[in-house]
Amino acid sequence: MLSVRLHGPRDLRVEEIPEPDSPGPGEVLLAVRAVGICGSDLHTYRDARIGDTLVQEPLILGHEFAGVVELAGPDAVDGLGQLLRPGIRVAVDPAQPCGRCEMCEDGNPNLCLHLHFCGHPPDNGALRERILVPARTCFPVPDQIDDAAAAMLEPLGVAIHAVNLSRLRVKDSVSIHGAGPIGLLLLQIAKLAGAEPLYVSENLPWRLWLAARLGATPIDQSGGPPAGQIHNKTQGRGVDVAFECGWAGTLVQEAAEAVRYGGRVVLVGIPEDDRLTLKHSTARRKGLTLVVSRRMKHTFPWAMELVERGRVDVQSLISHRYPLARAPEAFALNEKYQNEVVKVIVEVGSGHP
Ligand SMILES: [Zn+2]
Ligand SMILES: [Zn+2]
Repeated sequence: MLSVRLHGPRDLRVEEIPEPDSPGPGEVLLAVRAVGICGSDLHTYRDARIGDTLVQEPLILGHEFAGVVELAGPDAVDGLGQLLRPGIRVAVDPAQPCGRCEMCEDGNPNLCLHLHFCGHPPDNGALRERILVPARTCFPVPDQIDDAAAAMLEPLGVAIHAVNLSRLRVKDSVSIHGAGPIGLLLLQIAKLAGAEPLYVSENLPWRLWLAARLGATPIDQSGGPPAGQIHNKTQGRGVDVAFECGWAGTLVQEAAEAVRYGGRVVLVGIPEDDRLTLKHSTARRKGLTLVVSRRMKHTFPWAMELVERGRVDVQSLISHRYPLARAPEAFALNEKYQNEVVKVIVEVGSGHP
């Protein structure tokens, strides 16, 4: 079957690989339908590493995905406790926590000490025609949600988890630094949670425009440092909660400056150089609470419901679609932020390129 594997920095190859085994107990074989490209995938693509985890062997990326059950092993019970059968379309939670370690037992499966995660070394991801996954990580998708939107449920879950961690209260003011897919989803979740106003700073104009369309007060960087603009708009107070949703770097400091004394800064993005850069005095004087967000918890069912009921718009974020065989082009475009890219979806099994 066809797959796309990363061999080294920017070295993605479309390759034939052996078919997966047939599903064992509690497993299903999925025909992959749609895979989203994530900012973390771009990190891995550029550097052949994510944080301090190196890509040692050719790696199949892709952790935001949906597919159709082709074969179900015995006792293939999905994430909602129902038996999976061939033909059922599902979105997949890429995290496979052990359920037994201290972190799992303590209610933090996203921090599992024995975590497997699709597309994170050494586990292969979904940029291929078929994949074997634990049935419990699958969530059936209603007809109203198409394959591409189903692949958006994972990043939506990340956004929901980050907002939950922030302990946002109704009428809290919020700033979001970086309007990539996560920032744009987080904006919608924070709005649903009652945040107001919502400032978004972003240097790519089409993304800022999209944030405004989705209900944000845009902070255009040509108007001066974003934190200064936010202070002007809040009578010098700053916002209650600031979310860093870009590639960290200078945005961490920007978020810390935008937030009020005693405020909370939630870090969602991943920095390029694996360093957290923040002026200590900014954090100290304000007595800031820094919260580092890691993936998500049990957010899939809620993410699904929000999309199904039209409470969150994921379609507006999907700017590009590519067939599997052209995934290398999709990554190249996304990495250079060309053609007004927001979210790229790789469509698998939808005919030949
Ligand atoms: Zn992701
Ligand atoms: Zn665990």
